[in-house]
Amino acid sequence: MDQENLSRQIIVDHHKNPHNKIDKIPNGYTKVVGVNPSCGDQLELYYKIEDNKVIDIKWNGEGCSICCSSTSVMTNEIIDNDINYVMEKINIFQKMLLGEEVDVEIFEDAIAFSNLFKFPARYKCANLSWNTLKEELEKEKNE
Ligand code: ZN
Repeated sequence: MDQENLSRQIIVDHHKNPHNKIDKIPNGYTKVVGVNPSCGDQLELYYKIEDNKVIDIKWNGEGCSICCSSTSVMTNEIIDNDINYVMEKINIFQKMLLGEEVDVEIFEDAIAFSNLFKFPARYKCANLSWNTLKEELEKEKNE
């Protein structure tokens, strides 16, 4: 399977069987909402931080396949990681979405979005969950 087909397959799989998606916010989690009006994507992230570590993250929401699969992938990529590392990973993901040369070795399924820069109209869809979490973590760091 070539890279483009593999990427498509990963995105389809995450859309059909989203990881870490739940119906309602669990106790003790912080909720943050992300909206992408240009596509109609709307999601909620539920996360828990302990000792500067994102120990868990879940989500719920509706959107296009790119947005939902990217959110599913994002939760897997960042669970159980130090906030600084999470921020770095989000920055690298965003650079990749813009078509910049980055070290994609740090990614697991997020590598499926490495060709998305060819479709700039979908940037906001793929970026929504990542950027929503980033803005929130920036606030946490400043507190
Ligand atoms: Zn979308």
